[in-house]
Amino acid sequence: PTVNPATGEVICQVAEGDKADVDKAVKAAQAAFRLGSPWRRMDASHRGKLLNRLADLIERDRAYLAALETLDNGKPYAISYLVDLDMVIKCLRYFAGWSDKFHGKTIPLDGDFFCYTRHEPVGVCGQIIPWNFPLLMQAWKLGPALATGNVVVMKVAEQTPLTALYVASLIKEAGFPPGVVNIIPGYGPTAGAAISSHMDVDKVAFTGSTEVGHLIQKAAAQSNLKRVTLELGGKSPNIILSDADMDWAVDQAHFALFFNQGQCCCAGSRTYVQEDIYNEFVERSVEKAKARVVGNPFDFKTEQGPQVDEEQFKKILGYISTGQKEGAKLLCGGSPAADRGYFIQPTVFGDVQDSMTIAREEIFGPVMQILKFRTIEEVIERANDSKYGLAAAVFTRDLDKANFVSQKNGNENGNKMGNLGLKGMLPDWCNEQPRADGGKQSLRDLL
Ligand code: ADP
Repeated sequence: PTVNPATGEVICQVAEGDKADVDKAVKAAQAAFRLGSPWRRMDASHRGKLLNRLADLIERDRAYLAALETLDNGKPYAISYLVDLDMVIKCLRYFAGWSDKFHGKTIPLDGDFFCYTRHEPVGVCGQIIPWNFPLLMQAWKLGPALATGNVVVMKVAEQTPLTALYVASLIKEAGFPPGVVNIIPGYGPTAGAAISSHMDVDKVAFTGSTEVGHLIQKAAAQSNLKRVTLELGGKSPNIILSDADMDWAVDQAHFALFFNQGQCCCAGSRTYVQEDIYNEFVERSVEKAKARVVGNPFDFKTEQGPQVDEEQFKKILGYISTGQKEGAKLLCGGSPAADRGYFIQPTVFGDVQDSMTIAREEIFGPVMQILKFRTIEEVIERANDSKYGLAAAVFTRDLDKANFVSQKNGNENGNKMGNLGLKGMLPDWCNEQPRADGGKQSLRDLL
């Protein structure tokens, strides 16, 4: 069953793909990738034409797809139509343009040789996508894989299969040869795992939770060492310095967290605010959260729809209660926002400490954490103290500070061997090296 999260009612039943379906899809993809097949013989420019045709068909059916996305996922229709569909169409056109512009190199070799590289498609690309941007995730994964001549077996999220299946019909209508794209609705541990552990899948690209990312990498390693691309969770710091434009910073921090019901991998979910502007920032953020319009996602005034399903809804409410128990200050929201459906009030926590669960774990919901800091050095250290990567932001009117903060990420020391303690690990011969002028120089000192 796939459920309308605004009502909790079943929209329709969708066939559940499993391992046998994945096998069938991989066989179809392999057949489509065979040398001499229409896809392998196709000019690169023609692949671009097909991708552009697909973009045209999605544009033709834009209102229908936006409505279906809202029905299945719960995001406001205005956002589906204006943001998601807009980006889907642009993404496919962008990659259509790349189709005939990938090229290798010619390499000057000594002797009587001609040496060059070519970029070849990988082959069967397994793609496993989540439910927060169903159409957009599909476009982000299909666009580059198809532009470069690969074939695809894609598993869509069990919560939101409808739009991807509709796009499958448009892929056929656009004229892609049979077997080039195979879309499978199904569950992770069955259909998803069958893709990541398949011996004939050459690459797997996954977007979703960090936990499942571990499983995918492991399955790839234990099967055929397929290539892996992962885009996982986040707990991204959003740093507001005291000289920031207050109106802009409040608006952007609100958007960074609440956009898409808080269901974004790169949501700015740790809002660090410098102490001299903390009180005003918190007050204005709370006002803004309280004014957020939550309700029927098909109403044009709605800014926030329901969470995607009951599981997420319960998980988020659980985090809110943990936040309260651990001593964070609940400043607004904190409860379900309607009698039915999976709506949650826009919620803001103040006085959040780094050690609290709500500051460390990904909530993936409309719950803002505001933390106070004193100095830039301190906030850089705290911002980097997370098991996640993904995104980060800084708000200031001082470009020097913006550059300083944004360059102080966790990898900073990678370029500074001395700071990594490598000095002590250098062999003895590094102590003194002859210089061109006849003198001696210590490499150790240079570091
Ligand atoms: P989210 O928290 O976004 O629901 P998941 O990582 O659970 O993240 O799901 C993202 C995608 O990964 C979905 O398509 C889901 O079905 C799939 N998935 C879940 N478990 C597995 C697994 N064990 N192997 C492969 N794919 C999985």
